[in-house]
Amino acid sequence: MRILLVGNPRTVMGFNRLTKIPSLNLASLAANLDEGLAEIKIADLVVKDRNPQKALQKILEDYRPDVVGFTSMSFQYHTALGLAKLTRKLLPNAINILGGYHATADSENIVLGNDMDYFDFLINGEGEVPFNELIKALNNGHDFTKVPGITYKSNGKVFDNPRPEKLLDVEDIKIPLRSARIFQKGFHILGKPGDVIETSRGCVYSCNFCSIRNMYGKSFRKFSIDRIIMDLEDTKRHGTEAIFITDDNITIDPKRLVELSNEITRAKLNMTFAVQANVRGFRRSPDLAPAMARAGTKIVFLGIENASDDNLEFMHKSNQLTTTDTEIVVKQLKENKILVVGGFIFGNPDDKKEDLVRNFDYAKKIGVDIQLFNILTPHLKTELRDELLKEGLVTNIDDYSKYNHYAANVKTRHLSTGELFKIRNRLDARYTVESGAIFRLFREYPWFFTKLMFWMMKHEPQNWYNLSTGFLRKKL
Ligand code: SF4
Repeated sequence: MRILLVGNPRTVMGFNRLTKIPSLNLASLAANLDEGLAEIKIADLVVKDRNPQKALQKILEDYRPDVVGFTSMSFQYHTALGLAKLTRKLLPNAINILGGYHATADSENIVLGNDMDYFDFLINGEGEVPFNELIKALNNGHDFTKVPGITYKSNGKVFDNPRPEKLLDVEDIKIPLRSARIFQKGFHILGKPGDVIETSRGCVYSCNFCSIRNMYGKSFRKFSIDRIIMDLEDTKRHGTEAIFITDDNITIDPKRLVELSNEITRAKLNMTFAVQANVRGFRRSPDLAPAMARAGTKIVFLGIENASDDNLEFMHKSNQLTTTDTEIVVKQLKENKILVVGGFIFGNPDDKKEDLVRNFDYAKKIGVDIQLFNILTPHLKTELRDELLKEGLVTNIDDYSKYNHYAANVKTRHLSTGELFKIRNRLDARYTVESGAIFRLFREYPWFFTKLMFWMMKHEPQNWYNLSTGFLRKKL
């Protein structure tokens, strides 16, 4: 049997200009398939994002897989569906499988609609065990009733098998099979050859907008330090210089992260790291930022969320941080020469224009280098979605292709969806120049940003114009 796993080419707006990273979940599925069960390859179409359909067509024609697996977040679902349609047209007998966050959050609706003409099975939750069991069942007589965590239709009847009783013991998860990638080049983080690893899975907090609990419940499982170092060495053998760590909340246990950072320093891997992190971990452990910097951490995506403590409370975030904590932590990171990418959420129910401006001023004041001014997104199966729906504040209920944190899918009690979108865009366009961050970015990454500037002038002149003149448009 031949299997092809297809990485989704769609990224959130503009992100693919700064970084292209391969899909970790697909390489993990490939690694954790029983030995000898099938031949497996991965097509990470993020490096073919200008024409992913054409790239996939060529692979399907050359490799002719029997099983094709797709993955998607909600905003990527339509892209995955388009790729599945192409596969069905070219290889009508291939079995198509969809996994990832959207299949997990919406399988009960997908299975009832026409999209099941293109997907044979949906996988819910953590994929390694269900995928392996499904491939075994496809190989041995097609009894799917005991395959955990899958949803499918047979003779017009829907089957929704429960997930495995327990989450995996992470020590049983083999390191990702990077050699299965068809495209070995093109992945990068700010221009350096890049790859992705995980050091833990899950989070124990309850932020109302967060969808991670659908995957793992409220849990935190950590990989051993030895396994993480082995994984890093493997990425290095594949030519990697920069790593993105995908953990949901790597800073939950700051003591362990200090130990891990020290071990990475001792291992002399000479790599750089970008991580997504939570303010609370740094605040609890002042040793953390220096240890991470010594290990090679250059970029931290910090969940700042908002400049208002009331909004933090609305998000169920106030048990983790206050705006004062954030200010202290950004200072710590900058003292350690770590670039701060600050994630903000605009469009909370009580937001007025002044509240959005307050976030902009706060980001400038504390010195955020790259701003992510996201708009509150009512992701499926989150408490936030229920609350906003009840109050009639969700203005796009079912076009999930816009659930990318860039588009506005909600209104506030004081701003329409259009006003929210326009004000956020104006503030976003002003930020990089007005905050002075542009000078810091060019100083830290001169080649990358100079090349990006010329690339945008040639390929995206309108975006380039908006970006370079946005700071002049003061009127909101
Ligand atoms: S801390 Fe992060 S990962 Fe954890 S629930 Fe909140 S947003 Fe989700």
